[in-house]
Amino acid sequence: MTSDNKLGPQTRLTHAGRKAEWTGVEGHPSAVVNPPIWRASTHLYPNTKALKEGPKNNCDGRFFYGRRGSPTQWALCDALTSLEPGAAGTMLYPSGVAALTGAFLAVLRPGDVLLMSDHAYEPTRALGQTLLKDFGVETRFFDPLDPAALEAAFCERSRALLLESPGSLTMEMQDIPAACALAKARGVVTIMDNTWAGPLGFTALEHGVDISVMSLTKHVGGHSDLMMGSITTTEQWYAPVRRMAQLTGQVVSPDDASLALRGLRTMAMRLERSTATGLAVAEWLEKQPEVARVFCPMLPGSPGHEIWKRDFTGGCGLMGFAFRGGTVEARNAFIDALKLFGIGYSRGGFESLVTPADPGTIRTASPWPPKGMAETDRLAVRLAIGLEDAADLIADLDQAMGAWRAASE
Ligand SMILES: *Cc1c(COP(=O)(O)O)cnc(C)c1O
Repeated sequence: MTSDNKLGPQTRLTHAGRKAEWTGVEGHPSAVVNPPIWRASTHLYPNTKALKEGPKNNCDGRFFYGRRGSPTQWALCDALTSLEPGAAGTMLYPSGVAALTGAFLAVLRPGDVLLMSDHAYEPTRALGQTLLKDFGVETRFFDPLDPAALEAAFCERSRALLLESPGSLTMEMQDIPAACALAKARGVVTIMDNTWAGPLGFTALEHGVDISVMSLTKHVGGHSDLMMGSITTTEQWYAPVRRMAQLTGQVVSPDDASLALRGLRTMAMRLERSTATGLAVAEWLEKQPEVARVFCPMLPGSPGHEIWKRDFTGGCGLMGFAFRGGTVEARNAFIDALKLFGIGYSRGGFESLVTPADPGTIRTASPWPPKGMAETDRLAVRLAIGLEDAADLIADLDQAMGAWRAASE
């Protein structure tokens, strides 16, 4: 309905992607609030002449064939595009990883070099080390916190730069505008995994990114019942991304698109709540003698906080911390003692989750624990804070610290 950036985030989410032609019928525009779920493989044509002209309709927002979606998916694409200033369009994928794959395939060709942040999401690393490698693309990792290391990593064959901020496990904040400026000066395309903050917390394209990727499974879905991913790009990259998505048959079901739209409507409220609770948990963790370091860029004084404050307008409840020494058994005893946190992957749902995190085991270009942390402070925990009350979560973490102490004796 509107993409006016001056409106507040929750107002924009309320109106995003709503068009009378998708929610009404002839004679009664805007009949219902949400676009109906259009289940369709075949799209019908009135006659052979219209069928012959069909390919002309093979563009966004036109009926053509099921793989091109229907108003349910179009409404979601339109909403996501409207949330990202500078965006030309959005493509949907069956998962966040499928979206990352779509971005790589749209940009990279054999012989190219992909530069990847050493703190990137592990399955993203795996794509570089396996699929892309097999296709003749070389992936080189660089220290996300060292701009000189990035600058030195560029070569004649560099084609794309994969950024993520904060990093999935370590919450290290990258200077995205600086990295994009280095890439732009060399004609290198920037792809950013913007799942952590999403467009409400970080306007990726406005900060210089060419291709913004998101796992909608997380904050957009918001209820742990949906897998989906998206790519939102500038004008220059929209056509190649869309072409690769169509060539490889990427499509999401209208039922899932409808769930994602439903999640999107309350996303700002949920993010606000989980961010505030996450910060309260981080502040509490920081004071615990068992904790060596809290990984939460929203926490004043923590590494990366200045970058977060400068570039971001929001956060989320994904954070972590490292124990002061201790054993794997003690860390596991802590996790197993938690009653209000589910043990499982993902985040952005209404429920809090916990997993062990061992970032040091996958990094290749930069050390972990980083400078300033003891080598023994390497056992970490990742927390995905949900919508529960902060006091209850903190009380739960507090009693689980007792289990860590007992196991450490
Ligand atoms: C979860 C996640 C993904 C992958 O998304 P799926 O929808 O689970 O495939 C990619 N990047 C980040 C940062 C994630 O947290």
